[in-house]
Amino acid sequence: MEVVDPASGVVVGEVSAFSLVEVDEAVARAGAAFESWRKVGPGERARVLRRFAGLVDAHLEELASLEVRNSGHTIGNARWEAGNVRDVLDYYAGAPERLTGRQIPVPGGLDVTFHEPLGVVGVIVPWNFPMPIAAWGFAPALAAGNTVLLKPAELTPLTALRLAELGREAGLPEDVFTVLPGEGSVVGERFVTHPAVRKVCFTGSTEVGTRIMAGCAEQVKRVTLELGGKSANLVFADADLERAAATAPYAVFDNAGQDCCARSRILVQRPVYDRFLELLEPAVRGFRVEDPALETAEMGPLISAGQRDRVAGYVDGATVAFTGSCPEGPGFWYAPTVLLADSPADRHWREEVFGPVVSVLPFDDEADAVRLANDTEYGLSGSVWTRDVGRAIRVARAVEAGNLSVNSHSSVRYWTPFGGMKRSGFGRELGPDALHAFTDVKNVFIATEE
Ligand code: NAD
Repeated sequence: MEVVDPASGVVVGEVSAFSLVEVDEAVARAGAAFESWRKVGPGERARVLRRFAGLVDAHLEELASLEVRNSGHTIGNARWEAGNVRDVLDYYAGAPERLTGRQIPVPGGLDVTFHEPLGVVGVIVPWNFPMPIAAWGFAPALAAGNTVLLKPAELTPLTALRLAELGREAGLPEDVFTVLPGEGSVVGERFVTHPAVRKVCFTGSTEVGTRIMAGCAEQVKRVTLELGGKSANLVFADADLERAAATAPYAVFDNAGQDCCARSRILVQRPVYDRFLELLEPAVRGFRVEDPALETAEMGPLISAGQRDRVAGYVDGATVAFTGSCPEGPGFWYAPTVLLADSPADRHWREEVFGPVVSVLPFDDEADAVRLANDTEYGLSGSVWTRDVGRAIRVARAVEAGNLSVNSHSSVRYWTPFGGMKRSGFGRELGPDALHAFTDVKNVFIATEE
């Protein structure tokens, strides 16, 4: 598989794809490694993960540069992403000694529960955030005592391969964490069909996720799905309009809009609609789209020519309010674009564009805002801008999405849960409970009567 630098379109390397036979061999090895890894004492498992976190930290600049080259992420974002891997590893390194069960009072004996690891876990990763999304799967899975097979996206395998090397250097035994680059229809699909893979942890499109869930159902295989989004940014008339407008571009154009949490639908209360657009325009025009290796870059290119064509298809024929700028020449560039939705039926309002395109629509009152925000098959994240505390809480509770922020656009902290409602998926990653998704509870009763 060719690895292309999206900022120049130049091929920067090649990675060989795993065949079906090689995947099966890797599953067998990971299955064998599970028998010993699950028996490694909690303190030792924790130490290995902590060392892994330390090595990621020591190689942060190298990993970030690799991501700039392979994914076109800005250097600032790529550093955050590598730092997130370190933090997620550090956080779940605290888990093995704390993965306690319960003692439940019963007559005639002792009843205790155990959180047993599942076995081989298959993690399937998309191309938009290769490092963090990989770590959100592999770190808690390893901490809980599972072995992990990780399939990076075809376009972005480099950082995952490097992370696996660092894991080995940290002391993870052979075959405990293996990266298998390859086709989704070969490697990813085999995770679903191979009976020795006991859980699939999938992040990607709703279309592929739906098929994966159906495939896993055949074996009653555990599955978590983190899928697409079409999140709303609700701006009420009483909000701090200057801040809401200044931050809105970052909430959607970050990572060139290739973000499942992108607030790609802006809903503005009618009395401040015109003023909001006036304030939004300079923020969009000033958004720095440039060589992602530059420290000043706020946005880089899209991942591929195909993705750029797809994004452009949503803008064709739509009402463009204004656009930002982007470099010309080679590379997969697309300028930040603000569209006015003529109605909630517009294709760009309904579908996940996954690019630097945002749609704006006015609303009348709170009920209207909630109705429009929920008029989507997705439910991943969203933002509410208002100075009225009661309204902030009412609306945050009423919007059907897994991650809401008030007067902010933050979605991801490694120690709080993250995941979707509706067709954005199910299961939660990160936070204190994610570990349990990589275990099964076992109840053991020990009779004490003679
Ligand atoms: P995709 O669904 O095309 O691919 C995701 C991964 O699945 C890739 O590794 C791919 O090779 C693999 N795959 C493809 N076909 C497969 C099959 N039949 N069986 C098993 N695996 C298969 O998604 P993408 O285009 O790489 O990523 C973009 C999508 O991911 C967007 O919809 C985005 O919203 C979503 N996403 C969601 C989250 C979240 O946390 N909810 C985070 C990031 C991205």
